[in-house]
Amino acid sequence: MSLWVPGAGRFAPSPSGDLHLGNLRTALLAWLFARSTGRRFLIRVEDLDRVRPGAEARQLDDLAALGLDWDGEIVRQSERLPLYAAALDTLTDAGLTYECFCTRREIQQAATAPHGPDGHYPGTCRDLSEAQRQAKRDAGRPPAVRLRAAANEFTVDDELHGRYSGAIDDVVLRRGDGVPAYNLAVVVDDADQGVDQVVRGDDLLSSAPRQAYLARLLGLPAPRYAHVPLALNHEKKRLAKRDGAVTLADQRAAGHDPDEVRAVLARSLGMAADDETPTLPDLLSRFDPAALPRDPWIFPAP
Ligand code: GLU
Repeated sequence: MSLWVPGAGRFAPSPSGDLHLGNLRTALLAWLFARSTGRRFLIRVEDLDRVRPGAEARQLDDLAALGLDWDGEIVRQSERLPLYAAALDTLTDAGLTYECFCTRREIQQAATAPHGPDGHYPGTCRDLSEAQRQAKRDAGRPPAVRLRAAANEFTVDDELHGRYSGAIDDVVLRRGDGVPAYNLAVVVDDADQGVDQVVRGDDLLSSAPRQAYLARLLGLPAPRYAHVPLALNHEKKRLAKRDGAVTLADQRAAGHDPDEVRAVLARSLGMAADDETPTLPDLLSRFDPAALPRDPWIFPAP
């Protein structure tokens, strides 16, 4: 007898502004993936960076207005710093971290040399001697902490992309200003919260291998992923404020209530006919991951 206990899915917005229709579409998908598989659905506010006052409350209101519900309390990364520090200590004790004194500019300059994949850290500080490190500390530059990666590539399973292999590098675990890096926090949180299904925009697909690798090093299970297509503007760039009525508030101002917006999102996913306004239970009953579009949703020009 198999004893699979349903885990959890989640939506993890950064409270840097209002959610746009692409974010809301991803949230809807994350909810559908979780609920259709008997999972709990959690909301985690990723507020280690770029917080705009009031954004969190508006984001939660918008999710609720679409009918999405979630389980348990909202979790905020800013309230979980000891967890990230403990994970960093685990890696450091295992000899898997090092201090990096490079500035962004130095990394950019080094990365334009033919060292490897674009934007990957070229390893400048990996093998500094203790004396060199001390000299740099004495010069007053607060170091970031990086992972000493022992693999170049790692493979994850993705519901929409199949087996996906990606490059991994010496990712930053703690920034120079002492703030835990997103890649560490996300891995720690997903495991700690029992998240075994990660549904998010496919701009993060290339980060999944390094996150799953980090989970492995920490002795944590890797979640199953579903990286879903983004919403783009008519120029195939990320959706932004100037692209028209991109938020629920904009849509309301234009006379469209959240039910209509949900219908628009459902249509964009091939889950509703043009003349219907499906409820969330309707969408749940017809949800089929295999039938989801694989291409970005192009938002019409304003
Ligand atoms: N906080 C990230 C964002 O809003 C999402 C991270 C994730 O889902 O892993 O882009």
